[in-house]
Amino acid sequence: MTGRVLPRPGHSQKDIFRIERGRSTDTVNFTENRATRFHVKHPEQDSQVEATTTVFDGSTPLAHEIAELTRRRQAIASQTLPLPARTRIFTISNQKGGVGKTTTVVNLSAALAKSGARVLVIDLDPQGNASTALSVEHREGTPSVYDVIVNDRNMDEVIQKSPEFDGLFCVPATIDLAGAEIELVSMVAREQRLSRALGEFLDEYDFDYVLIDCPPSLGLLTINAFVAATEVLIPIQCEYYALEGLSQLLKNIKLIEKHLNPKLQVSTILLTMYDSRTNLAHQVAEDVRAHFPKEVLDTIIPRSVRISEAPSYGQSVITYDTNSSGSLSYLEAAAEIARRGVPR
Ligand code: ATP
Ligand code: MG
Repeated sequence: MTGRVLPRPGHSQKDIFRIERGRSTDTVNFTENRATRFHVKHPEQDSQVEATTTVFDGSTPLAHEIAELTRRRQAIASQTLPLPARTRIFTISNQKGGVGKTTTVVNLSAALAKSGARVLVIDLDPQGNASTALSVEHREGTPSVYDVIVNDRNMDEVIQKSPEFDGLFCVPATIDLAGAEIELVSMVAREQRLSRALGEFLDEYDFDYVLIDCPPSLGLLTINAFVAATEVLIPIQCEYYALEGLSQLLKNIKLIEKHLNPKLQVSTILLTMYDSRTNLAHQVAEDVRAHFPKEVLDTIIPRSVRISEAPSYGQSVITYDTNSSGSLSYLEAAAEIARRGVPR
């Protein structure tokens, strides 16, 4: 996996994106364009907890929690993750809204990039939330995934580097994408447009992972994502109604597999927004595990203020608060995905 970025100082981000095989990686000095956003500092300071560890004698629940966080952090710090032999392309999908799709795309991609992988995020949601969190330009009119699937532009003309990590790139979504569902209807090969563009791009450039963020619907954009991917990752919120609509989603994936993309498989299910204080969350997690014992990751993403705050700083939780429990959970989920590899 030796795709390389060769910087050309003084050029725009778009111009700078040149990758050639087999060349050494130079430092890329992008001007960080994190937008100024509202900053709400929460009193919960997970990462500062470590400094107070010694005050506790280990016998209280808080001291136990702190010790556990420290243990997890050390385990993550000492691990090296394997890189996949060929690019793994994930579609992160669930037609239910607000279940943590975008949050998962952003934080998993950051976690994988932190471990040294080269990761491409394709934002396929007109809301552009993944582009915001990865701090890439996505104002109306910015060259974006819309131009790729509707106007046949090459992906390397619209890709941007995220300031989050060296190996993290994003094809942004702008509000222009909102009209694409309708525009695609009358187009030739309307279901394959993303797949073809991504295939051509990956023929030229090396990436270890591609993560596609889907809108909360099963329209043509989501179908394009399913056709372009080889794996589906379904985030499931640990709440009532979590499983509702899931059978419809799985049915649609089966149809895509049968008619449009025989390589597609649901490889990963991630439980999100878990609140350990409620019996309901526990029950939902158990139900999902009982139904999908192979697919569900051992790691569960907790409900965490840090995770929800990070996007307002144009950051993933991995850089926003590395040692918080939310960040550690996404780092652990990334490690599980890397170690499990592609299921057979
Ligand atoms: P949509 O269907 O609209 O695209 P989504 O499935 O992409 O939504 P997100 O945008 O990732 O969902 O998350 C919905 C909201 O929940 C966001 O405000 C996000 O910050 C918050 N959120 C996601 N995961 C967590 C978590 N683990 N802890 C706390 N808040 C979270
Ligand atoms: Mg989303």
